[in-house]
Amino acid sequence: MTDAALQLTAPNQIAAKDLAKRARQRRPAYIGQGISYLVDTAILLLYAAAGTTSTRVAIVYAMAGVGWTSLALALSELRFPERFRDHYLTVPQSLASITIQLAAIDLAPEVGFYFVCILFIILGVAALRMSARQTGMVWTFAAVGLTFLFVCTDLPIAMPMESMADRQLALLCFVTALGRCAFTGLYGASFREMLYKRGKELKEAHARIEELAQVDELTGLLNRRYIMKVLNEELARAQRNGALCSVVIIDLDHFKRINDRFGHPIGDEVLRTFAISVTANLRGVDRVGRYGGEEFLLILPDASRDQAVQVVDRLRDILANLNWDAIADGLNVTMSAGLSQIRPDDTSDDILSRSDKALYRAKDAGRNRVVAG
Ligand code: GH3
Ligand code: MG
Ligand code: MG
Repeated sequence: MTDAALQLTAPNQIAAKDLAKRARQRRPAYIGQGISYLVDTAILLLYAAAGTTSTRVAIVYAMAGVGWTSLALALSELRFPERFRDHYLTVPQSLASITIQLAAIDLAPEVGFYFVCILFIILGVAALRMSARQTGMVWTFAAVGLTFLFVCTDLPIAMPMESMADRQLALLCFVTALGRCAFTGLYGASFREMLYKRGKELKEAHARIEELAQVDELTGLLNRRYIMKVLNEELARAQRNGALCSVVIIDLDHFKRINDRFGHPIGDEVLRTFAISVTANLRGVDRVGRYGGEEFLLILPDASRDQAVQVVDRLRDILANLNWDAIADGLNVTMSAGLSQIRPDDTSDDILSRSDKALYRAKDAGRNRVVAG
């Protein structure tokens, strides 16, 4: 397949994968709804057996409920809901379910209380996925339907309690309805928990991305882009407050030779060891970043030129006396540094240029030394 053809087909393939996933996500909702209608049908059959209603009611109710759910499931599998924003089609689903319950009250008012109970469950489940406006709309539809049945008809909507069987069945109605309400609540809670977890994961990923964007991969020090940002901030801070601040450029001596003699991986190890040594010997407020291949930028807030010379010379001494043999036999590493103190009208280019010139002087003077500019 050509590159152009790949570009054309790839988004469709991703979309097809997503569509299948969404259809899979909808399936449990329809299956749950179908089971709920079967529970209702079983209770209606028990009412029919007790002689409170007719078997015909249970059969019509089952046909309407299970029939509608099967149709909705079939449409879902055919990806029909994908053309709508809410692919669960919560509003039309709720309106259809409410219509079935209202029709059931009309059909069998002698057990009408039970269908009213089911309305609570429908609204409870639907509200988990609907906006406030949609919930208001669906609630209004249910309220208008109930008003019509309760006020505009003289249907004897009842909760039968005459016989012991009726009392037990009413209890069963309430208990199963309560169970479904509790289940809906649990589902809502797991939904919230999932959202919380996703939010936390997203926050962690964001923090990690931010960290990666600041850090040099090899040494773990700040990268060039970030240390330059820090330099500009420190420059502005020092100039605003009239505070001291010194800027140091460190360059490893004859690093090319180290690479040539011991190999690039050992060179990398030297850079990492240097980074650890520097970090371990600085104050918390000092910032250090990788400025180039084997060049590093050190920012020492509240440090005068002389204080900075002392700090950096100590670093130079530590580095020169490190047991480099542990990395490679005969390995020796030294550093040269050029530094300068920030002046009130300095730009970042000015201070870097002065430190760089001082570094060149350190190199010219024989390396393994610190020069202040
Ligand atoms: P000088 O004392 O004058 O600074 O000499 P030098 O050899 O250190 O300077 P030069 O600029 O000639 O060489 C720097 C070397 O650093 C060349 C380059 O291959 C090496 N280098 C740059 N980045 C890396 C890195 O990430 N890993 C390794 N191993 N070497 C690197
Ligand atoms: Mg260099
Ligand atoms: Mg060098």
